[in-house]
Parts: sequence; structure tokens; C-alpha cells
Amino acid sequence: MADYDVVVIGAGSTGTAVARDCAMRGLRTLLLERDDIASATVGTCAGMISSGLKYMDEPEIVDMCSDEVVHFLRIARHIIMKNPILTPMLEMSDLSSGGNFAEEYSKRAESRDVPPVLFLTPEDSREIEPSLNPEIIASLYFEEYFIDPFRLCILQALDAKNHGADVKTYCELVDIDVKDGKIVGVVYFNRITREEKRVSTHIVINAAGPWASKVAKFAEAKVDLRLNKGAHVILDRRVVNVGVIAKAVDGRMIYLFPHENTTLLGTTAIDTWEDPDTLTASHDEIEYLLQSMEWVIPSIRDARIIRTMEGVRPLVADWKIPEGKVTRGYEIIDHSSQNIKGLISFTGGKLVMCRHMAEAATDLAAEMLRVETECKTHLEPLPGNEDDVDVLALAKEFDISQHAVERLRARRGTETRMILELTKDHPDWKTTICTCEPVIEAEIRYSIRHEFPQTLNDLRRRVRLGTGPCQATFCTYKAAAILADERELSGHDFQLDILDFLSERWKGKRPSFRREQIIQEEVAQGMYACVGNLDLTLGSVYTRKPWEDWS
Ligand SMILES: Cc1cc2nc3c(=O)[nH]c(=O)nc-3n(C[C@H](O)[C@H](O)[C@H](O)COP(=O)(O)OP(=O)(O)OC[C@H]3O[C@@H](n4cnc5c(N)ncnc54)[C@H](O)[C@@H]3O)c2cc1C
Repeated sequence: MADYDVVVIGAGSTGTAVARDCAMRGLRTLLLERDDIASATVGTCAGMISSGLKYMDEPEIVDMCSDEVVHFLRIARHIIMKNPILTPMLEMSDLSSGGNFAEEYSKRAESRDVPPVLFLTPEDSREIEPSLNPEIIASLYFEEYFIDPFRLCILQALDAKNHGADVKTYCELVDIDVKDGKIVGVVYFNRITREEKRVSTHIVINAAGPWASKVAKFAEAKVDLRLNKGAHVILDRRVVNVGVIAKAVDGRMIYLFPHENTTLLGTTAIDTWEDPDTLTASHDEIEYLLQSMEWVIPSIRDARIIRTMEGVRPLVADWKIPEGKVTRGYEIIDHSSQNIKGLISFTGGKLVMCRHMAEAATDLAAEMLRVETECKTHLEPLPGNEDDVDVLALAKEFDISQHAVERLRARRGTETRMILELTKDHPDWKTTICTCEPVIEAEIRYSIRHEFPQTLNDLRRRVRLGTGPCQATFCTYKAAAILADERELSGHDFQLDILDFLSERWKGKRPSFRREQIIQEEVAQGMYACVGNLDLTLGSVYTRKPWEDWS
């Protein structure tokens, strides 16, 4: 018997959803991720589980997205937020396209528990969002849902594990064994132990996003992708009360979303042939976004850019059409058509479709394995979504600020109580470690014990540590000390972990520097160098992890 029925490659939104579905259907599943969960494309996305109306000329996709939103509200409501959105209009020609959108949106509004689209006068629009340009002639008001993409992936992976899957982070697929035209196994390299391991499997599901072509090549199979770069700019505060969607300089739609205690401005869309591992946002991309949004929010440049965030969309390979016309649907490749049985790959898709994509791939895998299974991923709650949480009562019972408990609830749902219970034996674990969020010590310790983070960066994805306006200036050392305590790390490893974390932050900060920020960064670097005795020149080696050789 083979070691596994299915090996899934990549722990982004797609791979974690596939691993969860396979494990829930009783397939013996291994999930391999070369870095951390949600460390690639999905971690750079806006997290909008949109109604799909941007793609109005693909009605089947609009229907699919609407249905998926309903499923997410059932299985993951604790990590979902509903955001009101305004689309301000500056010209009469905007009104007709707005009319079509309003009609399509309103048809599906009830099922998604949102109101139909409203047309607002300039006065009403500015009452909702005072920073709108006074010259707007009207605006559309509607509501969309957003999910925390990091938590979604972590919860899908944990649920896969709870259903028996093996989940291995920092394990990179380095070869696929094919015998007589059939998948028989994979070889992976464990980046922490530096060991290679071979396991046997009947099926490989390639959910490697922009790296899907590279993964397929290990089996001498082919996946064509149209890689498309997208960049976001993150502003240091909530510059708007509500989301704003506006026409960019080239007629594309861009957005400004208040996100936690910052604001997300995005996104660009540029065909790319660059290595997805080393992309950064360009000056042109930042200016494109700022100038476009400035037309409707004239004060946008008053906010400080704290970082940029860029990712690569692994689009379906439709060529000779503009990027905006490429389908946002997905395709599943059964590589039997290339004479390799047991290999399944994805192209295209979106975060909002990840559960749907997983269901389709798992159906195909089950058919190949000749087992009868039923998908339940749209019915069963993800961990933390089992019940409601009474934030006020918990804040009172554990004598902790209501704000801290509310932020904890938004990441954890019913796990909030389990985390607060830890403070009964350790009252000092109520200490706030990251003040921007806030994150308390008990949550960090809980995450280290139950969510397999290996580094501070991994902790950031699980608890949002260091992602707020101060960009980790004040929480890094405190969190590193907790990680070192839980993991019994040496002083040397403790320092390397901090360097790895700061260099990852630096990657996103560097493209955003303007005027005073350069001086501020000099001060911050001086602080790390003098107080922490950290040689930040080492931190410029982005790809290195704490356990790798930094000498
Ligand atoms: C700027 C931007 C904004 C977006 N906004 C939205 C949005 O608001 N809503 C929405 O629905 N969609 C959005 N998307 C699209 C969405 O983010 C992607 O479609 C989706 O996240 C892709 O997820 P994935 O799991 O397929 O890929 P990834 O997240 O890239 O995951 C692939 C994983 O495979 C791993 N991997 C690669 N090679 C190997 C190997 N050899 N061994 C082991 N592991 C390997 C990688 O490390 C990676 O973690 C956005 C995309 C971008 C770029």
C-alpha cells in the first residue's frame, strides 16, 4: 500500500482547501509547503470574497462567487467582516455602467444577506465619507465581505490535520516519481532538518499557484500560466470610513479598503515574467495607485505609506487579449491527457473560489482512486466557528480590555475562551505584546503550541503581530523572547529569528520610502543596531531562514 492516497503541493488558499477536503473524505493526505502556510500569493491579496460582479460578462463565475460567499458565511463567519463600499462617479458616462452593476448585484443580494445597491446623492455620499471629492455627481453604495486570508489558510490546514492529514511546512517538493506513465511518489526536502525524504502516493495535486508550471515539470508535465503581478500600498491609518472603488488612470477599477487599523490601496495588474519570489512594487505602480485614487479622495497623500505588498496571480493562459479580459475562473488539468496518470494541476482561480476548486479536484482524485465520497466542506464549520462569542462577558470575566478581547475574537472565534483560560494560571500573560493590534502574550503562546509556527514571521501570519502602523518596531523583541522561551532557542537563534523577521518587513517597507520616512527608518535601524546589537546588513539576505547558515 502507498504511504498516501494524495500529496498536495502548496499551502496557499487552494492547497489548504484541497488538503481539508481530501482529509474530510477519508483520503490519506500529505500537504507539503516549502515555506509557511499562506506565505505566498494568498498572503498578498485583499481578502475580498467578492460577489464576482467585476466579471459581469462571466455570469457563471458571478453565480459561483455568490454561492461561495454563502458557504463561507456558514463555515467561517468568525473571520469574516462585512464592509460598506462607495463607488463615487465623476462623469455622466459612469452612471450607465453603474446601472448594470446595480441590477446584477441586487438580484443576488438577499441570498448573501446584503442590501440591494443604492444610488446616493453627492451630499449623502459625503456624509458617509467626508473625504470624497466635492465634485462627484453621485455614488453607488453596496456591501461586500472580506475574510482574513492568513487565518483562513491556517484554519483549513488545522482542520485537515484534525481529520488525519499530515501537514508539513518548510518541506519543498524536489521531485515527482513517475513509473509507466503513473505517479508513484514524491521526494521532498525538509529545509529545517536538511533531510530529503521519498514517500509513495497514488495522486499528486499541484496547488502551487504561480509555481505550478515548475512543479509539473518534476513529472515532465506541462502547465501554462499567464502570470500577472498585483501590488498594494498600505497606509498607516484608516483614511476612509468605508471602502471606495474608483476608476484608475487607465479605466481599470481600483480600490481603497479600510483594513483592520490600516488602509489597503490596490491593485495593479501587470503581465510579468519576473521570478515571483523576488518581486517588489515599482515607483510607477505606487504613483499609478496614488494618482488614480487622488481623483476621488484628494487627501490620500496625507497618509503615510507603511509598506507595499505584491503578489502574482496565476491566471489561465489566455493570450492576445488584455489582462482584464482573461477569465477569473479556474481550470483543472488532468495530466492523463499528457500521458501522466495521477497528476492534477490548477490554473486560474481566486481566493473566494478556493473551496469550490478543492471540491472539483477532490472529486477527480476520488474518481481516479475509485472511491465514492461526498464533499462536506461547505457544511462543516472551520475551527472557531462552532458558536457565538460574548465579548463583553469574557472581558469582564478575565478582567481584560474589551478591545483586546474583540480583536482576539475576530481571529479566533470560540478559541478566545481557551486562550483567555491560560491567563488563570499565568496572569502576566495578559500583557499586550503588539500594541497596534493588540495581541496578548497568551495568544502568542497558544499559537506557538498549537499552530506550528517556526519563526516570528510565521507568528505574524497567525496573530497579525507587527502588521500595524508601527510595523513591528515595538513588539519584535518581546515576541522573539516568548518564541525563544517556548522553543528553548539559543541566544544566537533568537537573534537570527529577529533578523529574518526584520528583513521580511524591510522587503515591503523599502519601495515605500518617501522624504521623512527615510530619516525615520535610519533611526529605527540605528535602534536595532545599538540596542539589539543586530547587524542589519545580514538581514538583506531575504531567502535565509533562522536555521540556515548566516555566516
Ligand atoms: C494583488 C492581488 C490581490 C488579490 N485580491 C484578491 C481578492 O481580494 N479576492 C480573491 O478572491 N482573490 C484575490 N487575489 C487572487 C488570489 O490571491 C489568488 O488567486 C490565490 O490566493 C492563489 O492562491 P494559491 O493557493 O493558488 O497560490 P499561493 O498562495 O501562491 O500558494 C501556492 C503555494 O505553493 C507553494 N509552493 C510552490 N512550489 C512549491 C514546492 N516545490 N514545494 C512545496 N510548496 C511549493 C508556495 O510556497 C505557496 O505557498 C488577489 C491576487 C493578487 C496578486
